[in-house]
Amino acid sequence: MSLLDSLRSHVGAANVLNSGDLSAWEHDWRRRWHGKALAVVRPGSTAEVAAVVQACAAQGVSLVPQGGNTGLVGGGVPDRSGTQVLLSLQRLNRVRTIDAANLTLTAEAGCVLHHVQATAAEAGFLFPLSLAAEGSCTLGGNLATNAGGTQVLRWGNTRDLCLGLEVVTAQGQVWDGLSGLRKDNTGYDLRDLFIGSEGTLGIITAATMKLAPKPAATTTALAACGTLADCVALLNLARTRLGAGLTGFEVMGRFALDLVALHFPALPKPLPGAAWTVLLEQSDVEGEAQARERFEGLLGAALEAGCVSDAVVAESLAQSRALWHVRESIPLAQAQEGLNIKHDISVPVSAIPRFVADTDAALQAAYPGVRLVNFGHLGDGNLHYNVQAPAGTDGKRFLDEEEHRVNGIVFDAVAACGGSFSAEHGIGALKRDELAQRKSPVALQMMRAIKAALDPQGLMNPGRVL
Ligand code: FAD
Ligand code: ZN
Repeated sequence: MSLLDSLRSHVGAANVLNSGDLSAWEHDWRRRWHGKALAVVRPGSTAEVAAVVQACAAQGVSLVPQGGNTGLVGGGVPDRSGTQVLLSLQRLNRVRTIDAANLTLTAEAGCVLHHVQATAAEAGFLFPLSLAAEGSCTLGGNLATNAGGTQVLRWGNTRDLCLGLEVVTAQGQVWDGLSGLRKDNTGYDLRDLFIGSEGTLGIITAATMKLAPKPAATTTALAACGTLADCVALLNLARTRLGAGLTGFEVMGRFALDLVALHFPALPKPLPGAAWTVLLEQSDVEGEAQARERFEGLLGAALEAGCVSDAVVAESLAQSRALWHVRESIPLAQAQEGLNIKHDISVPVSAIPRFVADTDAALQAAYPGVRLVNFGHLGDGNLHYNVQAPAGTDGKRFLDEEEHRVNGIVFDAVAACGGSFSAEHGIGALKRDELAQRKSPVALQMMRAIKAALDPQGLMNPGRVL
């Protein structure tokens, strides 16, 4: 039997697509990678995923798993060869169970993140993972990339929220590791091996995730700071005064907000003229009035200490949402402005002011007039440090011709600060060469040994990560 016939027999002919417009699966979100799949296969259960993997393994055909296709490093689309099967997890979209007393939820990999959040909320809980792509990214993709987002400061990355996994191995066996245990020291941590492996070791089909009690209130404030050192001082003050109530701490550079004002003029323009604007989020177990009072106390102390020059506290949920909307509009405003070179870097929080000063200076020296769109999760030491061509020059040409050199400048500065060239988006195809160059040889050797042991045929998302 041909592979396609075998796949049709497992998942039904309607779920094996090999003609018509497959661009939704073959192009990535940023439209930087355009592949061609042998077929798009859409299994509807873990058993069907296992059967698809076995059929492909028997014929030596490689697989590219895909969830919501919102990944930013070209890891979830097929190559151009027309020989890879694109395995879409989107039909595995059930929340299987909620264990209220254990504070856990078990859901399938293709569940859209927003659906997981909403299901948890309906049951009276918080599922804290949150990112701007939550309307289309999937739990499986979040796990495969160990996604971060805006709540990492309080709740950690996706890895920190995961207790157990169900995985189809490269041989097509099902590993049921769906445990809701917080303590389980029984040998190597296989769960953590698959989290962040970007589809290169096996297919995640379901996961047991941690829930939290729903907070009584969530409030937001904005603060204007003169320098990044002031932002770091504010962070430490906020940590001291708000403790675990501090759930978000995002920084936005002035040029980033200028772009939002230019391209989305209807959005609010809070604290105009601030060199750096910080968005703080607080979740409170008591209530909104108490949370606002705590914010006012914090910001009063920050004004007195001199690290903040102006501040506002949101007066309603609608206002809080509007402030987050401004933050989340930065990538879109930047895209409207033209193609640019994106970096997702992390350094110790203490090194952020030095990193930005040194790297800004190095880039300005190399490219006079270059524009720096700088924003991100300052509380986690994670900046989206993006480089936009000088005004009036061709963004596409800048990206095509200068990306390699710009990356060299930025990543050398990151390394000098003890940082990472990929904080939350992963490696995929985009940063594979960087990994080979910048990761220690001993670490690479261990990674290759793990890959060879779990996927000896090299059929799981080949050409990604390693
Ligand atoms: P996909 O894009 O489909 O896949 C991503 C990778 O995971 C690929 O390598 C794929 O092969 C693999 N994969 C997918 N599903 C599985 C599976 N079930 N088993 C094994 N491998 C699998 N990321 C952050 O960390 N923080 C952010 O704040 C953030 N914001 C974003 C905002 C926007 C607007 C966008 C477009 C992206 C953002 N991202 C962010 C990128 C982030 O990686 C993705 O949004 C998300 O985690 C990927 O989920 P997905 O289902 O779309 O995965
Ligand atoms: Zn981010």
